[in-house]
Amino acid sequence: MWRAVAVPGAARGRAGAPRAASGAAAAQLRRRLESELEEIRGAGTWKSERVIASRQGPHLRLAGGGAGIINFCANNYLGLSSHPEVIRAAVEALEKFGAGLSSVRFICGTQSIHKDLEEKIARFHQREDAILYASCFDANAGIFEALLTPEDAVLSDELNHASIIDGIRLCKANKYRYKHMDMQDLEAKLKEAQKHRLRLVATDGAFSMDGDIAPLREICQLAHKYDALVFIDECHATGFLGPNGRGTDELLGVMDKVTIINSTLGKALGGAAGGYTTGPKPLIDLLRQRSRPYLFSNSLPPAVVGCASKALDLLMESNAIAQSMAAKTQRFRSKMMAAGFTISGKDHPICPVMLGDARLASVMAEDMLNRGIYVIGFSYPVVPKGKARIRVQISAVHSDEDIDRCVEAFTQVGRKHGALP
Ligand code: PLP
Repeated sequence: MWRAVAVPGAARGRAGAPRAASGAAAAQLRRRLESELEEIRGAGTWKSERVIASRQGPHLRLAGGGAGIINFCANNYLGLSSHPEVIRAAVEALEKFGAGLSSVRFICGTQSIHKDLEEKIARFHQREDAILYASCFDANAGIFEALLTPEDAVLSDELNHASIIDGIRLCKANKYRYKHMDMQDLEAKLKEAQKHRLRLVATDGAFSMDGDIAPLREICQLAHKYDALVFIDECHATGFLGPNGRGTDELLGVMDKVTIINSTLGKALGGAAGGYTTGPKPLIDLLRQRSRPYLFSNSLPPAVVGCASKALDLLMESNAIAQSMAAKTQRFRSKMMAAGFTISGKDHPICPVMLGDARLASVMAEDMLNRGIYVIGFSYPVVPKGKARIRVQISAVHSDEDIDRCVEAFTQVGRKHGALP
């Protein structure tokens, strides 16, 4: 039986007080870290975390006060993160299958719900098979190394997500970086890459900083011409782009031309956590054998699997949810442009309000919060210098009134700080 063991001397110190490691190396490390932190603060790129004291949703309560904040900065595109049926499914999975597996998948970490969810994901995307990961970051970290060798080549959009960049760094294939959504440059790089055995074009389906959508039709045409495969990261598309929310490939009519999809369960699909790869069965079989973040990391917890599984059920029952956000996105974009703002991207619920100046973006975001609107400013190095912005994300569960209040606050704050005449 488990029994607590008394630690000698523990009673003398304050219970739970942190212990600073002693020694010259620890002191040197502390000095170095403190100076690095100071540099980040000095550069104005410090990221602070606001603490939320309620569920994720269109209206939040912040810790230490701040109730009734309208939230425009979550990836909760469909509002499923706090959907009652999604929460109930998580509770049921927790009760039936336990808190977690204490194991990786291939030892004793595969339950029937993991297999069911993989089958459901493949069916949702109309692909042969799917494999789950703890996150899409892991899915991106695992795929390139498992799939590509020094004989192969990967061609990557320069603005791809950090996890794609890191995944590509881990593989030994020949690397080509093409200019953002520039088809001439992609074609030039594809010509150069003809000498390699296999070519894989890798792109975000929708880019999270600009809300722009990859020209997948043209990418697929070039891939066909130069005998390449297409990989898309659909984190900001799965569940809501396209008539049935299948994603960018459905939106642009190329579902049968994209070979591999990686996406997340941590945004539109319930928002808990988790990621996946879906595509040809032999690829998924190979990932189960070779993909390191899959092989050497714990199985997804049942409650998380329950959330995603229910979110997919809801999306496959009817396309009404997937459709529900488009009109709200349109309302926000058109009202903001009429007010005089420049909104980057097109028809995507990521609506970057372009401001240019980093300080202006940060001061305006702060002032928006004072008026009950939670938005975040982004500046260099997250976005290029001189292209600071406030990113607004629309959710299906925002009301028209929420959106109008946001536009009104932007207009007042924009005038006050000189972003509008
Ligand atoms: N890919 C893109 C385009 C993303 O935006 C993100 C998350 O921010 C990820 C991958 C990582 O997804 P996850 O949160 O599931 O690790």
